[in-house]
Amino acid sequence: MEILGYAALSSEAPLAPFRFERRELRPDDVALEVLYCGVCHTDLHIARNHGGFTHYPVVPGHEVIGRVTQVGNAVTRFKAGDRVGVGCMVDSCRQCDPCRSGYEQHCEEGAVFTYNGTDRHDHTRTYGGYAGHLVASERFVLRIPDGLDPAGAAPLLCAGITTWEPLRQWRAGPGKRVAVIGLGGLGHMALKLAKALGAEVTLFTRSAGKENDARRLGADRVVLSGDAAQMAAVTGHFDLIVDTVPYDHDVNPYLPTLTFNGTLVLVGYMGPLSEAVSAGALVRGRRAIAGSFIGGVAATQEMLDFCGEHGIVSDIEVVAMQQINEAYERLLNSDVKYRFVIDMSSMRKGQN
Ligand code: NAP
Ligand code: ZN
Ligand code: ZN
Repeated sequence: MEILGYAALSSEAPLAPFRFERRELRPDDVALEVLYCGVCHTDLHIARNHGGFTHYPVVPGHEVIGRVTQVGNAVTRFKAGDRVGVGCMVDSCRQCDPCRSGYEQHCEEGAVFTYNGTDRHDHTRTYGGYAGHLVASERFVLRIPDGLDPAGAAPLLCAGITTWEPLRQWRAGPGKRVAVIGLGGLGHMALKLAKALGAEVTLFTRSAGKENDARRLGADRVVLSGDAAQMAAVTGHFDLIVDTVPYDHDVNPYLPTLTFNGTLVLVGYMGPLSEAVSAGALVRGRRAIAGSFIGGVAATQEMLDFCGEHGIVSDIEVVAMQQINEAYERLLNSDVKYRFVIDMSSMRKGQN
């Protein structure tokens, strides 16, 4: 089936209309019409090859809400017409220990990512949700709770699960003090989820203008990271810090704000940190720096159901597919409140 999407053809090229083939359905495949697709900072990193591992052309998009159009003959959980979601993965080996224990993102054979990945069977490239249709293995398709607005729910599929995972792993809840660094797509979901889990919540931000929004989104306290007095006032305070900053930055100023046994979890930047980390700050406080990578399928469904129960969706700005390059520039300038979501009907209307 020929599909229209938007692709980057090189690291310098703006995204532009791109036609490609979606495979015929395998027995366990689900095909969906993409209704909405969130714009994650990872889309921008990969479109512009920040990590050095992009294969062009690349069709980004891994925060997908769609409607099932067709299912393979072995599919049991979905039928045409169902409202579903697809996140960062569309397949994995399903046999290894991580897959069996619900950590498909850490599959020993490598999870198949929704875009810029390689299909396990026919070895074709995967193309993501900036497209009219998507095909994913049934096991990687999520149910979207009925009460949730579909556009607002799209970012839950990546920003939601990526922040849910460390909050759950490090047991954010009543009596726990959680801080989030950076108020963007991931950061604003982290505030909402940590608050709903019952933790005391703080935002670290570079941006003085975000204070009111942060409080509305769930922060009990806002600390301007460039203000030494505000930083000193939270010395030894946090059990958990979730660091969503997308670029190289100095983590040392945050380490003293962790309590004894506290952990700073990196979920944003994935390259080398150019500022050497103070071993003393870790050793003396038995503190840790850790990382966390998206989340498994069961955890994603658990997070979606939690959001359904608590009425949590993302704060979004809906854009047309044709506005994607402008949206990327605004993302680079932290000028989004707090997630762009593409209304894919804009592309179907042929406005490109
Ligand atoms: P985003 O919406 O652009 O938000 C990032 C926020 O970080 C900004 O709003 C800003 O907040 C702060 N920030 C931006 N540039 C900064 C800089 N140079 N120095 C310090 N702070 C800066 O991005 P996002 O979509 O939330 O994604 C965040 C990162 O997570 C990206 O690198 C993305 O690739 C990564 N990611 C990782 C995973 C995973 O599995 N680990 C999954 C999804 C995304 P303030 O203005 O409040 O400071
Ligand atoms: Zn993402
Ligand atoms: Zn596996």
